[in-house]
Amino acid sequence: MSTVAVNGRTYNFPRRPTVVVCIDGGDPDYFDDGLRRGMLPALQRFQERGVWATAQAVVPTFTNPNNVSIVTGVPPAVHGICGNYFLDPDTGQEVMMNEPRFLRAESILAALSQQGARVVVSTAKDKLRRLLGHELRQGICFSAEKAHEATLAEHGIREVNALVGWDTPEVYSSQLSEFVLEAGLRLYEQQQPDLMYLSLTDYIQHKHAPGTPGADQFYQHLDRYFGAFDEMGAVVGLTADHGMNDKNTPTGEPQIIYLRTVLEAWLGAGQARVILPITDPYVVHHGALGSFATVYLDPHVDVSRVVARLQAEPGIEYVGTRARACDDFALPPDRLGDIVVISDRHTVLGKAPEEHDLSLLEGGLRSHGGLAEQTVPCIVNQPLHAAYRQQLPPTLRNFDVFDIVLNGVESAH
Ligand SMILES: [Zn+2]
Repeated sequence: MSTVAVNGRTYNFPRRPTVVVCIDGGDPDYFDDGLRRGMLPALQRFQERGVWATAQAVVPTFTNPNNVSIVTGVPPAVHGICGNYFLDPDTGQEVMMNEPRFLRAESILAALSQQGARVVVSTAKDKLRRLLGHELRQGICFSAEKAHEATLAEHGIREVNALVGWDTPEVYSSQLSEFVLEAGLRLYEQQQPDLMYLSLTDYIQHKHAPGTPGADQFYQHLDRYFGAFDEMGAVVGLTADHGMNDKNTPTGEPQIIYLRTVLEAWLGAGQARVILPITDPYVVHHGALGSFATVYLDPHVDVSRVVARLQAEPGIEYVGTRARACDDFALPPDRLGDIVVISDRHTVLGKAPEEHDLSLLEGGLRSHGGLAEQTVPCIVNQPLHAAYRQQLPPTLRNFDVFDIVLNGVESAH
């Protein structure tokens, strides 16, 4: 069998070992800046030889919806994962949406593994592991965060630390991403799997702007790994789940609209329940402050009036009813509140001041979630064949990356 059909698209079985990396928070500015200063030699080669484009991420520009879109090839309206966190309508509880029971579509990885492809998935944070590894057959799927817990039965691999030669890194470190790449490289050398999906963490991008020493060092490390895969003959595809922007006032304080506080002032207490789908256990990154929120309103509240009033607020870029937002961003209606609110490039949305610990955000806030973080890189180390290039849509999506690397790359051997 040389192709598989997954969620309405057809993918070629990998003809050469193929490595797709999701650079979490990999805003294109980091690459442009690093290339300009001649710091990223492998990426420079990819730019000269292969594909160097931008793509649009899924809104909300958060980690889980985008990673799941990348591995399924479809938007959240189809796969169901529209945040890290949501209000479960069955229970009325706010819960993490990181379990496979929330998935509504199969992944390209699972489908190819079921056809006999050897698939390796490695993620930085454990929150993504089970979503990405769902229904893999005889594959390997583990997180750097819990590398030391990997077992053959659950993860398809054990003694990951011995393989890499490193202890499990701190969750708040650049080493967490580097561990994923180092493990990927070792597995590639040992096993040459048909397909690898390596998903990093955005700790560095949350803390270090493009051009700063922390960012430079991290991107130079990434470049070395990408170059190593390239030299071993892999097809390498790179994209990101979202960009990253500075979210501070001109004086350097986090620029926050506390939505519940605003809505309570207009509507009275208890009329609005604000859900921040960026919320996850890793709050040091962002203090649960991103640029996307959804709000459940009491049935007596006039939704259109709230929409109109919020649209007039400074710092708000988009407000839509559930139906409108599902249409605009291909989201699942049963997992969203009555309205969707998106703040602008330099503003985030919170619930109320007492719900966010700003002391964690030493050095200012960089975050994501909105429309300003939708542009991400789409980079491939190989050229595309002409016929495929011609049928590419004018606007690429980050979840086209598997289509591009599996269907579009010239099969050199
Ligand atoms: Zn992310």
